[in-house]
Amino acid sequence: MSDCLFCKIAAGEIPSVKVYEDDICLAFNDIAPQAPTHFLVIPKTHIPSVSGIDAGNSGVAAHIFEVIAKVAAEKGMESYRVVSNIGDQAGQTVPHLHFHVLSGRDMTWPPG
Ligand code: AMP
Ligand code: ZN
Repeated sequence: MSDCLFCKIAAGEIPSVKVYEDDICLAFNDIAPQAPTHFLVIPKTHIPSVSGIDAGNSGVAAHIFEVIAKVAAEKGMESYRVVSNIGDQAGQTVPHLHFHVLSGRDMTWPPG
């Protein structure tokens, strides 16, 4: 999508601090970290949110979860939270599928 912030980050048109990259996805540090470790994992193709995952693209989502597990293990993260906000009420501000990966502090439940 030409006017999508995360498509532009995936294309390298807007800079990011990369944590991991392959042909399918990109992980980069969140610009406003909510924990000592806070990165986002996005598909390189434009999917608006979790609600846009279907039989045709669910392999991308599965791959992203493999990447989350791999990067977390490489970073020695034993406890972490994976969050994806869908829609305005849940707090989604960027309409391109992304998974927040947060770690390094005590967390509460339920989330706000
Ligand atoms: P959400 O509000 O769940 O849609 O998450 C969007 C996230 O993107 C927020 O945590 C923002 O801090 C983060 N964000 C926005 N712009 C950038 C950027 N240019 N680089 C890195 N993270 C960003
Ligand atoms: Zn996009």
